[in-house]
Formats: sequence, C-alpha cells, structure tokens
Amino acid sequence: MTVNYSGHYDVIVVGAGAMGSAAAYYLARRGKRVLCLERFGVPHNMGSSHGHTRIIRLAYYEDPSYVLLLKRAYELWREIQSEAGEKLLHITGSVDAGPEDSWVFKGSWESAKLHDLPHEVLTGPELRRRHPGYHLPHGHLALLQPDGGFLTPERCIVSYVEAAQKLGAEVHAHEPLLEWEPRENGVRVRTERGVYEAEKLVIAAGAWNGKILDLLEKHAIPERQVLAWLQPTKPEYFQTSSFPVFNLLVDEGRFYGFPVFGVPGFKFGKYHHLEEIVEPDGYDREVHDYDEELLRGFAEKYFPDGSGATMDLQTCMFTNTEDGHFVIDVHPEYEQVSFASPCSGHGFKFASVVGEILADLADNGITRHDINLFRVDRLLEKERYSLAGREAVSNGAVNGASGAFRRKKDLRPFW
Ligand SMILES: Cc1cc2nc3c(=O)[nH]c(=O)nc-3n(C[C@H](O)[C@H](O)[C@H](O)COP(=O)(O)OP(=O)(O)OC[C@H]3O[C@@H](n4cnc5c(N)ncnc54)[C@H](O)[C@@H]3O)c2cc1C
Repeated sequence: MTVNYSGHYDVIVVGAGAMGSAAAYYLARRGKRVLCLERFGVPHNMGSSHGHTRIIRLAYYEDPSYVLLLKRAYELWREIQSEAGEKLLHITGSVDAGPEDSWVFKGSWESAKLHDLPHEVLTGPELRRRHPGYHLPHGHLALLQPDGGFLTPERCIVSYVEAAQKLGAEVHAHEPLLEWEPRENGVRVRTERGVYEAEKLVIAAGAWNGKILDLLEKHAIPERQVLAWLQPTKPEYFQTSSFPVFNLLVDEGRFYGFPVFGVPGFKFGKYHHLEEIVEPDGYDREVHDYDEELLRGFAEKYFPDGSGATMDLQTCMFTNTEDGHFVIDVHPEYEQVSFASPCSGHGFKFASVVGEILADLADNGITRHDINLFRVDRLLEKERYSLAGREAVSNGAVNGASGAFRRKKDLRPFW
C-alpha cells in the first residue's frame, strides 16, 4: 500500500482501542490536532476489548487506591454515554466473593469500608435467596456493592472515536505504526501509508505495547484468555435485573461473570485461564475442548442453572505486569512520549479516566490524578535488581541458588 500521507499534529495516539480512543477524545476536547492510528478496524476483535461486556465496580480488592480513579471513571462514562446518546453503562450491582479471609472478599470489603461505599456482606444462602443464580461454596462470603455493573466495550470505543472525530480528530484504521523516532521538538512516526510528525506521542497499543516500547518488552506480557457463553436453563435468574456481575474465588481459581447481554448466554471466564503467555500476532485464537471443559466445570458447580447449551466461545488477550497493577507514565528518556498499559485483566473500566490522564500527560507532563502505583520505574527497578542479582550469581558473589531464587521470586507474576 503506497498512499504517502503526511502531516503535522499536536499529538499522535497509537491504538484506537479502549485507552487510545478515550485519549484521542480528551485531547481533541482540549483543542489538540490529533491523529489516532489503529492497526485493525474500529472496533475489532483481535486485541483486549471485545466480547460485548466488561465489569465495572467500585469496591476494589486489587488495591483500595483504585477507588478514587473509579469514581472519576464513572463520571466520565456517564458523560460520554450522554454525548453518544446511547447506554454504555449498565448497573446490576457487583458481587466479590470468596472465603472470609481471601484477598477477593476481604480486600473488597476493606476497600468499601475505607471509602465509605454502600455495601452489604451476605452469606452464600443469603445471596442465593436474593439472586438465585448463585450457588456459593459453603462458608464463602459475598460483598454486594450496588454501583457495580458492566460497560459495552465495542460501543464505548466507537463512542469515543465518533466524539473525537466530531472535534476534528483524524482516526486512521488499518494503518499500524511501524516505527517511531524521537526528534528535538517532538516525534516522527512511520506507517505503511505515510510519515507523520507531532509534538507528542501517546502509545496505547494494548498487547502490542512491548513491541513498540523496549522498556515494556519484559513488563507487559500478553496472555491468552477464553470466554464462554452458556444458555441458562433458568433464564430469569441471569437477567441484568436479577444477576449482579461477579468476581469469585473458589478452589478452581478466580472467575468473573455477567448476566445475559449481547449473546443469549451467561458469560464468564477464568482469570489467567491456562496461564499461556503468547505473541500478540498469531496466537491460538481457536477454542479447544479442554478450554470449554474447564469453564463448563466451573459453571456446573457454582451456577448450575446457567450451564445449558454453549452459545459462544471466544479468545482474548490480557497484558500482564508482574504485580498486576497498570503502567501509565511519561517515557523516562523522552518527555514527549507517554504511554499506558492498563490491563492485567482489569483495565477496561478505567479507560475513561485513563484517557483523561493520558491527555494530561501529553498536554502538561503531569496529571492531577494519583498514578504513583502505575509508574514504570517500579518495574524497571525490579529488572535492574534482578539483573544485578543474576550477575552476582554468575560471579559467585551470591551464595548459590538461594540468592538467585529470592530474586526470581520477586519477578513471579502476581497470580
Ligand atoms: C477476556 C477479558 C476479559 C476482561 N474483563 C474485564 C472486565 O470485566 N473489566 C475490566 O475492567 N477489564 C477487563 N479486561 C481488561 C480490559 O479489557 C483491558 O484492560 C483493556 O481492554 C485494555 O485496553 P487497551 O486500550 O490497553 O487495549 P486494546 O483495547 O486492545 O487497544 C490497543 C489497540 O492498539 C492497537 N495497536 C496495536 N499495535 C498497533 C500499532 N503498531 N499501530 C496502531 N495500532 C496498534 C490494537 O489493534 C488495539 O486496537 C478483560 C480483558 C480480557 C481479555
């Protein structure tokens, strides 16, 4: 393809997925001339943001410090849905359940108390009386938070892209960035169709971030996921009015799920499915019998009225960091470049506020939001420490395997 586009922009955004589409919009709203490049279509099912639904919840067992960002995320989702004239945010309530001492139940409860969120703690039988689709294991507790629900990811992306275009942003689909180069006062990027210049570059390429940014290569690791939609045998238990979204920790692992929406099936998946690290280009997108069996086994045990005929099966990618927290920062060497890799399986709900943060970083280099948990330094420091450890081991300076093991353990994925 030779088109020979060119142009000078205030900001080039790489990726029109969840984070990039939101960033393009918030930048265009500030009057910036924006070009957003996307390697596939708008929207598409090749990355991390397809499958009709994504959970949003206020109680946050991953770390209570996410709650303030979530409050802003909800405000911005409501704003963009009103701009789009379309319902993007569906409130069902959310359940975070597990053994009493588990990080999922206890962490969620602690975040709710700390941030004074409305909530109730229910036993398994109490939850089932209210929401009969649920069959929690004996002794599990559930935190029910009324603001939880789900977003419609493909429509959120389309809404942000359309709103950005209305403000003059250019969005080029099927035009992947091939390379970028820092310049004295900005950046130059090359695609198959042209060469563009801009003062600022925002990289929000999801599972491909590690291919575009060397510093994320070892810290933003794509992983294959599988989702199932099963026809409920009691459909009335799995409606948006009767079935809150959930995160559930059981002996078989940590699972999440949704009421019927978009596909005539109860949708759920297992976090880190088979722990398969993949290459984003050309990973195994087929769903195999063993994938389905793993998921069906879970539904039959804990949601027996939701485990009828298979309605759909799909694959998708997480992009994980070692500690499960996001990476959002300005490039340590090039202040004109900022980037976001907010995933580890829980990033979509934040896309609205991450778009605002990326617009702040591209505009001023700083943001009023607290992103200390997400700084890239924490990952690079571990890498330096680990390299130093490995060198010390090979020089015989650390006492054999135990020293090396300690360091390796630091780098273990958080799941
Ligand atoms: C199965 C599954 C379930 C999930 N469930 C939830 C949930 O319930 N709640 C929640 O909050 N989060 C959830 N997540 C996580 C969430 O979906 C991700 O955090 C989020 O989608 C990441 O958005 P992103 O913008 O980083 O990536 P994407 O939306 O994939 O966007 C990246 C974009 O960059 C483009 N791109 C890549 N390379 C280039 C290039 N060279 N040039 C131009 N464009 C490029 C890609 O094509 C893509 O469109 C889930 C993820 C998966 C996979």
